[in-house]
Amino acid sequence: MRTAVVWMRNDLRLADNPALFSAMQSHEAVAPVVVWSPEEAGAWALGRASRAWRARSLAAIAESIRAIGGTLTILSGPAAEALIGCALLIGADTVVWNRRYEPTLAAVDENVKRRLESAGIAVRVLPGSLLVEPDALTTQSGSPYKVFTPFYNAALRTGHDLPLPSPEHILSPATLPSGIPLSALPSSPADAPDIDRFWTPGERGAEATAERFFSDIVDDYERSRERPDTDGTSRLSPHLAFGEISPRTLKSRADEIVRCNGECHVSEDAVAFTRQLYWREFAYHLLHHYPHTPELPLRRGFDVFPWSRDPDCMDAWRSGITGFPIVDAGMRQMLATGWMHNRVRMLVASLLTKDLLLPWTDGSRWFWERLVDADLANNTFGWQWVAGSGADAAPYFRIFNPVIQGERFDPEGAYVKRWVPELEAMPASWIHRPWSAPSGVLAAAGVRLGRTYPRPVVDHAAARLRALAVYGSIRDAER
Ligand SMILES: Cc1cc2nc3c(=O)[nH]c(=O)nc-3n(C[C@H](O)[C@H](O)[C@H](O)COP(=O)(O)OP(=O)(O)OC[C@H]3O[C@@H](n4cnc5c(N)ncnc54)[C@H](O)[C@@H]3O)c2cc1C
Repeated sequence: MRTAVVWMRNDLRLADNPALFSAMQSHEAVAPVVVWSPEEAGAWALGRASRAWRARSLAAIAESIRAIGGTLTILSGPAAEALIGCALLIGADTVVWNRRYEPTLAAVDENVKRRLESAGIAVRVLPGSLLVEPDALTTQSGSPYKVFTPFYNAALRTGHDLPLPSPEHILSPATLPSGIPLSALPSSPADAPDIDRFWTPGERGAEATAERFFSDIVDDYERSRERPDTDGTSRLSPHLAFGEISPRTLKSRADEIVRCNGECHVSEDAVAFTRQLYWREFAYHLLHHYPHTPELPLRRGFDVFPWSRDPDCMDAWRSGITGFPIVDAGMRQMLATGWMHNRVRMLVASLLTKDLLLPWTDGSRWFWERLVDADLANNTFGWQWVAGSGADAAPYFRIFNPVIQGERFDPEGAYVKRWVPELEAMPASWIHRPWSAPSGVLAAAGVRLGRTYPRPVVDHAAARLRALAVYGSIRDAER
């Protein structure tokens, strides 16, 4: 009986899983395996929020595989030894997996491939996590894209295949390695977010989240996606990060949402959602072509940026006690749920890198630990974009004003009140700038500045001028 091993990683799903599909087409028996080897991920091993998510996601995929007759085996790493041992034991002639793009993980995969092939075991690697492979597109001059819109247009022209169906039955090989029981894997760290309250990890949770988005939210996506006080985005990011749903499935679903007023066309809201999926593609394109960027700026002029070191400000930012309500709400939302609204991610990152001049790499590390959707490509791209050191980055003079942004995107202060309960009784007109509220307003709301809620860690107007000077000098040096 021809047998294949499917090495599952950040593709914890049955539907539209090219590696699983391909193995099942070519082989009668299939053994899906996960290799437990956190040390092989190097400096970017999963953070604590992601570890907590993965424990649940693994349990979910193991159950789904069991329900169709298969068995997910968890092997102990290093990956090459584990996979060779497994393939020899069960008589598999091929190991199949979906490609990874993170530089360290891609290097691990290359090494594992070589080792398996030297042991006489065939390897098949398939694209499975993106709409467009990062090396499939280049500019007319043959270089990688650094600007989103031309990348997006080129990617749309390339198109993509339709999603593959889920297998209905998996035939397991007669023998399987004993593996590690799921219960023996390190369980959730104590200070991880309260995942079970806010999320349902796993493919079914991903499908339910997508279903809810496409039936209830997408129609207003373009308007409400910028509003942290509404449920206006899909919240699919952790499901995408763990590969519990594929971007092809989401893109195909979005393409089906057609509006007809005179002429029929894909709805503008669905197009806006698809465009966001292509920001993810762009981030992977950049990470693949510029693998140093998780640690170093893409724009080398930023190598000499005079970042500050201020542990007290860093602690205030991390804990959500900066005195800027919308920033504190975002940081606390992340600590509690493992997720933060995109608009607020931009605001907290701008406060860190521009007002406080603290290194974006410290911010990206903290996000990496605390986000359930921590994704090396998106996180690196987001941080470098806000810091101004990345591709298609925010211009150096864009320094978000946390008061104006709060008033614009959280006009009633509902988002702040949810995550910063000390300010619950503040009227909307003062909630984004409690430090300038009249004393009577503060007293009536039970707020004592510096006691129940902090004063701002920095004066935004002065910090803005300081940042403009520093950023301006980097821009001048780059010319
Ligand atoms: C400083 C900073 C750090 C970030 N870190 C991460 C991260 O670690 N992981 C992560 O998935 N996203 C990250 N983002 C991007 C973005 O904030 C999240 O993808 C988004 O908030 C997820 O919520 P959603 O699924 O409801 O998004 P939706 O608006 O529903 O978008 C759908 C999907 O499109 C993709 N997407 C949306 N916006 C972006 C974007 N700006 N860049 C890249 N992809 C995008 C995501 O995969 C998202 O799930 C970061 C952004 C910033 C500014």
